[in-house]
Parts: sequence; C-alpha cells; structure tokens
Amino acid sequence: MITLKSAREIDLMRRSGQIAAEALRLGGSEVRPGVTTKHINDVMHKYIKSKNATPSFLGYGGFPAAACISVNNEVIHGIPSGRLIADGDIVSIDVGVLLNGYHSDTAATFPAGNVSPKAMELIEVTRQCFYEGLAQVYEGNRLGDIGYSVSQYAHRHGFSVVEEYVGHGVGTQLHEDPSVPNYGVRGKGQRLMQGLTIAIEPMINQGGLEVAQIDRNGWTVVTKDGSLSAHYEHTVAVTSNEPLILTSLS
Ligand code: MG
Repeated sequence: MITLKSAREIDLMRRSGQIAAEALRLGGSEVRPGVTTKHINDVMHKYIKSKNATPSFLGYGGFPAAACISVNNEVIHGIPSGRLIADGDIVSIDVGVLLNGYHSDTAATFPAGNVSPKAMELIEVTRQCFYEGLAQVYEGNRLGDIGYSVSQYAHRHGFSVVEEYVGHGVGTQLHEDPSVPNYGVRGKGQRLMQGLTIAIEPMINQGGLEVAQIDRNGWTVVTKDGSLSAHYEHTVAVTSNEPLILTSLS
C-alpha cells in the first residue's frame, strides 16, 4: 500500500534526511587508506545519536550496525568490520535515520586514495544515474520513466544495472511501497503523485548485472563476476512542481 505524505510529514522527513545527509558526509570524509569500515560506522553512529535520532538500519532484520559499508565488489549491505580500507578502494556507504517517526535513506560511493580512472568513472556515472532518474520525478510520470532513464545512462557508459535489489518508498517505515527499480519501460508502472516519497538508489556494476549473497554473514551482496560496484541514493518527494531531495545537505 502506498501512503502519500502531507506537507508536514515531508518536512519531518526532511529533518530526518538532513541528519542522514550530514552522517553520510561525515562518513565519507573518513574514507581513506588505513581506516577500518567499523571506524567509519562509529563516527556516523555517534553523530546520529548526538542529534537524538536513531540509525534506521541498526537491528533492522538483525543488521548489526548503523551504516552499510560495502567495499569494491560488494554491492550493498556490507557489515562494518575491522577490514582496513586500501589505497584504490571504492567504499559505498548507505545510511538511514529515524527521527520523530520518519525515516530517510541515502547512500554514496567514495574513493580511497588513488583510485583507477575506470573506478572513478563508475562512481561518477552512478551518481549521474540518480540525477537522470530524478529528472523524471514529476506528477503524472510513472516509475518506469525513472528506471528507464537510470538504466539508459548506465548502459550508455558500458555499465550494468543491478535488478535484484531496487529502491523503495520511505516514510514511517524504512521500506514502503512502491518498489523503485533502476530499470523499466517508459510510461509504465505506478503513476507518480504529489506526496509520494521514494528512495531512488542506482546500484551500478562495472561488469555483469548478476549479484550473489555471500554466505559468510548472510547480508553482504557482491557482484558475481567480482567486478566493482557503486551506489548512490537520495530520499525524494514528488511535489506539484520540482522534486524535493530530502537527504541533501542544508
Ligand atoms: Mg534504500
């Protein structure tokens, strides 16, 4: 069931989203060779707590940390650990915040040290995939318009789009209807309506689109062919006019 949000609810989501945005910025600023993924998580967790907010992911389905931190071939749901970040790694950080009953969800991929031009291109294309999708977020358009634009941009750059995991509605629940795939057919799917709040989150692979869940922890999703993967996400509200990014830095 899709729940449309009032202006007041969207304002509450924006407050939550600003904490998520700052947590992501802080986490990203800690990405460098020699740092553990746990350290990055701890900095973010501390900041979220300092704002009297709650990390949405901690305990969600049993997830053990505030942020998902996924390195190189890890697509999503990386568990922060003692793993040391190496020079040339790319580090995807995904974080959700619960404040006053409303969730927000945002992610980005950060380079550590000297990253290959190809990896840098993947990061930049993935970010732009989000903005290609965002450009379709207007009342009357459909979810297929978003997915189509995201996937076309990735494919034009020779990358593939993860289909097994998708974006989602966000609100009083971290994951609400509708699902927001990063692929689709123009003019098809759920119509976008004022008050719809969704997380658009392209997951883009350098190689094939196939992913697998590694058995080690039951969470982390990796590319099947071992190629690099990047992630970019904002929580967005459909309005009667321009879309609002609720997880941008104020
Ligand atoms: Mg999400």
